[in-house]
Amino acid sequence: SRKSKFSEENLLQQLLDGNKTALGRAITLIESNQFSHREKAQQLLEGALPYSQKSIRIGITGVPGVGKSTFIESFGSYLIEKGKKVAVLAVDPSSSVSHGSILGDKTRMENLVTEENAFIRPSASGSSLGGVAKKTRESIILCEAAGFDVILIETVGVGQSETTVHSMTDFFLLLKLAGAGDELQGIKRGIIEMADAIVINKADGDNIKAAREAKLEFNRALQLYPSKESGWKPKVALSSALEQIGIDSVWKLIKEFEKLGKENGFFLKNRKEQNKFWLLQTINEHLKNRFYQNPVMKNELKIQLKAIENNKVTAFAAADLLIKKFENLA
Ligand code: GDP
Repeated sequence: SRKSKFSEENLLQQLLDGNKTALGRAITLIESNQFSHREKAQQLLEGALPYSQKSIRIGITGVPGVGKSTFIESFGSYLIEKGKKVAVLAVDPSSSVSHGSILGDKTRMENLVTEENAFIRPSASGSSLGGVAKKTRESIILCEAAGFDVILIETVGVGQSETTVHSMTDFFLLLKLAGAGDELQGIKRGIIEMADAIVINKADGDNIKAAREAKLEFNRALQLYPSKESGWKPKVALSSALEQIGIDSVWKLIKEFEKLGKENGFFLKNRKEQNKFWLLQTINEHLKNRFYQNPVMKNELKIQLKAIENNKVTAFAAADLLIKKFENLA
């Protein structure tokens, strides 16, 4: 209809005006796999890009049940009280299988969703983490262009998703629980290395003593890690997302981190490095899709997989043959 065409033409302007409905529609557009939407989405992104970059992007990870959504609810509300506009996005590696295990549930973040200055977007669906990640990254740009100045990106501590979120955020926050067994052994070393802060959540009630001990232990452990390029020494903090304790000190840490990074140049350097990384990622993803979604290659791949199963060919010879076939198609 005329009316929807009219508003679609103005989508970018409405987005820049901070209209949340427009923002939601813009994200839907970039998430669309429909070919006809792609050009429009690209234009929108290009239009939004000059107005982005002004936010702080915070990654939040932790195992299911650690209190991520409760923390985001408290933290987000705290920031809104301070006059911030807060967007919450999610990278969920399982969403393509389970149709959204994080942020999909509308009952989470009950208060935050009602705030005028909050925008919450359930995780994008996609056939690959790479695809979901690309959409999330583009969504960050759209949120920033719409005036959101704190972007929280949640992910479940599964597989590669933390690395992905780390590669699109300025600050990486790991939520942990005290007394959840082997404090230090149970964690993947890589995640600790990525963390700019470890926040021990549920530091309330009977848990306080254990939380304090865990804090000491993490602090001790962090001493053993090499210093970071950012010049930032990762911090350990306590929080009760439920009772809204320690939330302000987490924000204080993030502000300190930002100040240091802007003084020593790391903040912007890191974003540039991330942009380069995402250029390469986007090319990789695109090439991969072209290969695997090509009907000819799908068939050829099937044949070679069968040949390998029957010991007719080595993996390398089969790969070589497939790549040559693909190159001849292109
Ligand atoms: P998520 O799976 O990481 O998003 O965790 P949720 O935010 O859904 O929290 C899981 C459970 O832990 C819920 O029952 C919360 O009420 C509870 N919870 C979250 N934060 C706290 C906290 O700071 N203290 C206590 N005691 N419980 C909490």
